[in-house]
Amino acid sequence: MQIYKVGGAVRDRLLGKPVTDIDWVVVGATTEEMLAKGFRPVGADFPVFLHPKSGEEYALARTERKSGRGYGGFTFHASTEVTLEEDLIRRDLTINAMAEDDQQNLTDPYHGQRDLEARLLRHVSPAFAEDPLRVLRVARFAARYAGLGFTVAPETLELMRQLSESGELEALTAERSWKEISRALMEDQPQVFIEVLRECGALKVLMPEVDALFGVPQPEAHHPEIDTGVHTLSVLEQAAQHKQSLTVRWACLLHDLGKGLTPEEEWPRHIAHEHKGLKLIKAVNERFKAPKDCQELALLVGEYHTHGHRALELKPSTLLELLQSFDIYRRPQRFEEFIAACEMDARGRKGLEQRSYPQADYLRGAANAARTVAVQPLLEKGFKGPELGEAIKRERLKVLKTYKEKA
Ligand code: ATP
Ligand code: MG
Repeated sequence: MQIYKVGGAVRDRLLGKPVTDIDWVVVGATTEEMLAKGFRPVGADFPVFLHPKSGEEYALARTERKSGRGYGGFTFHASTEVTLEEDLIRRDLTINAMAEDDQQNLTDPYHGQRDLEARLLRHVSPAFAEDPLRVLRVARFAARYAGLGFTVAPETLELMRQLSESGELEALTAERSWKEISRALMEDQPQVFIEVLRECGALKVLMPEVDALFGVPQPEAHHPEIDTGVHTLSVLEQAAQHKQSLTVRWACLLHDLGKGLTPEEEWPRHIAHEHKGLKLIKAVNERFKAPKDCQELALLVGEYHTHGHRALELKPSTLLELLQSFDIYRRPQRFEEFIAACEMDARGRKGLEQRSYPQADYLRGAANAARTVAVQPLLEKGFKGPELGEAIKRERLKVLKTYKEKA
């Protein structure tokens, strides 16, 4: 049997990027031979094994043929006859379809190296269209390598467009989509992921709620960029530049969805968009089965981001309601993430990227003040049950009044 490094490891070495996980392809071996060498089979579906020591993935060379909708609709053929070239042609992009032996001899039948130099994300063969997940993968690689000057080849974008129109994207499972979306959001330029999806028509299918924001104007005084879609991309860009977590980035992407529902007569104002957006945020959350912390933060940021911006003007009672809604006493981290998302929203505006955001410290200070209220003295005074709750609230309100006066 011959063993080759493939995919990302070869690509990233040639790009001079650090290689984290290595994928291997094995030519000329049978399952029995792999098992005899101590490799552990990964699943029943594909001839993929884990190395007994390194735990890295070793896949038998295989060919694939589409036999139905979605990812389950693949039949593959693995045998000792399948060549390296035949295995490489089933891969998504030319830059991902190179192999290297242990002497670093490159096998590059589909000109991945040429495309690396040309900074092009190009599909390997027309079979690209057989797996709709590749639309998301290409957009994700575009987000990752945009900083190096990579773009999607026009003919690949055209195939992505056809795939998006074909209805195949709808066959993707929430789990497969979320895996790509969440990884893409954590790339250096996540806004490029959304841009590429939009350009090929996939955004309209996957997240019509986000797609609808493009072309929707906002008041120029607060939003020099005017367009809500452009603003959303800038917010995401700021979130990446400030190395925010996945939860914050997800909330940034969805925070303004309500603006897509404003009747045109009301433009450029968006009265109550925070509240109107909640059902859209919920729909997107559920469509991709986003993790609970992402879902929660997106809804909270959607509902309260304007409160965040207006923090210094809020009445103490409104400020208290805000803090209560976040359960700052038990969930301090979540409130920090809310503040971060608000700050990204404030900076994700044309020409305002460097502005200061005094609201952040003000909100932190308010939360700390509210947390100083001790329960014990109230218990000692004999408060119980709902009355205790009311008494705590009264004390917190008092503390917040003082906080606001001193600020
Ligand atoms: P990363 O750095 O994100 O791990 P990668 O290129 O190694 O990038 P993997 O998901 O680890 O990506 O997949 C390894 C290789 O398998 C890819 O380089 C590609 O050749 C191939 N591959 C993975 N998923 C697909 C797919 N859906 N369609 C076609 N080829 C794929
Ligand atoms: Mg990999």
